[in-house]
Amino acid sequence: MNILVINCGSSSLKFSVIDTQTGKDLARGLFDKLGSAAPSYKLESSLIPEAKYGTLPSNSEHEASLDTLADFLASDELQLKIEAVGHRVVHGGEHFTSACLMDQAALDAVKSCSSLAPLHNPANLLGIESSKHHFPDLPQVGVFDTAFHQTIAPEAYLYSIPIELYVKHGIRRYGFHGSSHKYVTAEAARILGKPLEKTSIITAHLGNGCSAAAIENGACIDTTMGLTPLEGLVMGTRSGDIDPGIIFHLHRSLGMSIEEIDTTLNKKSGLFGLSGFSNDMRSLRQASAEGSEAAQRAVAIFTRRLAKSIAGLRATLTKCDALVFTGGIGENDAKTRAETLARLEHLGIKIDSEANSNAGKGRNGIISQENSPTKAIVIPTNEELMIARETEQLVGNQ
Ligand code: ADP
Repeated sequence: MNILVINCGSSSLKFSVIDTQTGKDLARGLFDKLGSAAPSYKLESSLIPEAKYGTLPSNSEHEASLDTLADFLASDELQLKIEAVGHRVVHGGEHFTSACLMDQAALDAVKSCSSLAPLHNPANLLGIESSKHHFPDLPQVGVFDTAFHQTIAPEAYLYSIPIELYVKHGIRRYGFHGSSHKYVTAEAARILGKPLEKTSIITAHLGNGCSAAAIENGACIDTTMGLTPLEGLVMGTRSGDIDPGIIFHLHRSLGMSIEEIDTTLNKKSGLFGLSGFSNDMRSLRQASAEGSEAAQRAVAIFTRRLAKSIAGLRATLTKCDALVFTGGIGENDAKTRAETLARLEHLGIKIDSEANSNAGKGRNGIISQENSPTKAIVIPTNEELMIARETEQLVGNQ
């Protein structure tokens, strides 16, 4: 089945067309800088020799991107027949435990979660509404970043704050990157040769955003991100865990507004804030090698915090078959994996340094020694394929 997968940000629309039978993408592209003076796009397909680049009229938004996208898919060169559309939706609150057809009730439920993800959910909704308009005959399916984490029990999802804040306002841990954690969990079970429902692992998704999750017998039981994607690990520009008292101090003693604090913690912190110059692990590794102490310290804090969180998640599991690394950093940065694993030998993970150096580059690979009680595995994530598969499954069951 050919599924169009759409991922809308506030100023971008990413898409791919996935053939679920082969798992390959037949077309992909990005519309960027939407709403600005010069929105641009790049469209690619294995069916055409070269990528197409172009611009949209100034201030064009998601709706105009879908015009161009629909024309591209229907063009003589591609003639791609799409059977359903799968939309990435960031926050599904407690409404969605799995993928869902986006009827009016589902759209209303996504809208009701917008205050929990003000940067993401409104853009996701725009994408769904535009897509309904352009492809009125196709099933439109929402796949939620939070859904995989809905198996987490109250003792893991409740914060130690007054209980009515959860009861009346839904303030709890939700977790994100669900499609990635779910995808690599299924891949890990396959690689380990175990049934999914008997596979217990820790997954570390390390991209620009970073989160780790504890999976017991195939179901998520804890994760590092919380009510929002700001909690947990050190990320590219997000702080992850800090003392909540810092927020009051920044406001009361330094006179920062709530908006300024929000921007500081979401956009100016993490690797970027610590190093003072980059959120990008490649640049930081290069600068570290050239002697930058700020880069060395930023990376050291990143891996130390990662190891600490993984050890914490291990305490929530009764057994752990493997630790999985994924995301741009997890898949490509052998040093991050080695430095993290050097702190985790007591969890029964013995790294195979040569396998670690050779791993990644788009391939799955076990990077622990053969006799390591808990394995370490690098698994390239594929959130689009996960969204396509979930969409196909839902549409197939209708
Ligand atoms: P996103 O969360 O935006 O999807 P990615 O999963 O692409 O992000 O991850 C981006 C991060 O991966 C950046 O910090 C980038 O430097 C890092 N990364 C990508 N390739 C490499 C590489 N070859 N070596 C080290 N880090 C890498």
